[in-house]
Amino acid sequence: MKIAVLPGDGIGAEVTAEAVKVLERLARDGLAVEIEEAPIGGAGYDHAGDPLPEDTLRLAQAADAVLLGAVGGPQYEALPRPLRPEQGLLRIRKELKLFANLRPAKLYPELVSSSTLRPEVVMGLDLMIVRELTGDVYFGEPRAIHTNAGGEREGVNTMRYSESEIARVAHSGFRAAMKRRRHLCSVDKANVLETSELWRTVVTEIHREYPEVSLSHMYVDNAAMQLVRNPRQFDVILTGNIFGDILSDEASMLTGSIGMLPSASLDAAGKGMYEPIHGSAPDIAGRGIANPLATILSVAMMLRHTFSDVAAADRVERAVERVLAHGLRTADIYVEGTRRVATAEMGDAVVAALE
Ligand code: NAD
Repeated sequence: MKIAVLPGDGIGAEVTAEAVKVLERLARDGLAVEIEEAPIGGAGYDHAGDPLPEDTLRLAQAADAVLLGAVGGPQYEALPRPLRPEQGLLRIRKELKLFANLRPAKLYPELVSSSTLRPEVVMGLDLMIVRELTGDVYFGEPRAIHTNAGGEREGVNTMRYSESEIARVAHSGFRAAMKRRRHLCSVDKANVLETSELWRTVVTEIHREYPEVSLSHMYVDNAAMQLVRNPRQFDVILTGNIFGDILSDEASMLTGSIGMLPSASLDAAGKGMYEPIHGSAPDIAGRGIANPLATILSVAMMLRHTFSDVAAADRVERAVERVLAHGLRTADIYVEGTRRVATAEMGDAVVAALE
């Protein structure tokens, strides 16, 4: 298996270095991986004048999976828009046709005090949002700000989903549910929107191919409420681009720790780009204190979703749990009575816990 590692900017390089240590340790135990690094984002601009250099894109296209750190930094903010680091990220997602975004939100028992919700509400939380990433009102045409017939300015966007777009992300959702507790809740606004009515019909049709998975439907306003009222009722939530954008941020904050949350973006063949949900954190970059666990857990997602190596994925996740249980904490998740460690020390501890 070929893995393209794109560290990016700021803490991106620091956290991917620790994730690579984990991959190299697994490789010593027989995991057949080949790792190659390339610059992206601001690093891509510095290297080749392009946030997504040709060579980087070619490497990512040839790889079975991509591990990305994070992009962006204040030194790039004055660049013309097409040269900004974030454009590299948008372009690589588009070029690799990554239409299904998987965002787990899991609360580790040791970190329950980081959540803003009461322990009895969030303890044991372990859900995943599967969000459609390339369609919906964010991409639908026509879109414009124009002057209407009445002579006033008017903003227009178009919510649009084709049957095939819904079907392919529904398959991703059901496949993710098969690897978990086998319950899928499809979230829409079918009481008001035709796009949602079709969404619900197509998801129900695809469900016939996954009889082991139980399917329920929920309106998005209710889902937003249920996520803070009783988030443990969910296993996999499947939803469209705009609803998923909002619900996935809401769900990730239930765990209270941005440095702990991985993500995956998959194509139709299961090839994926795996990355922490956090950014390049310029405020702490270069100090060696960033939390590498979100990136290490992204490796676990890669093993599970692209390489279908459940045993290796479990092994990485268990190693992270063990390190937390031993009281090791980076600064972002530190509380009194635990041991504060640096980025590299946390990575080394996870590698040691794999033994
Ligand atoms: P951010 O996620 O980088 O940081 C938000 C806060 O969380 C900061 O205080 C930071 O120190 C902290 N934080 C983030 N990750 C952490 C970690 N692993 N360990 C410890 N603390 C961590 O978001 P931001 O400050 O809004 O954005 C900074 C830059 O990152 C911007 O240029 C933005 O465009 C970019 N960004 C990139 C991505 C991406 O590459 N996917 C995502 C979001 C933001």
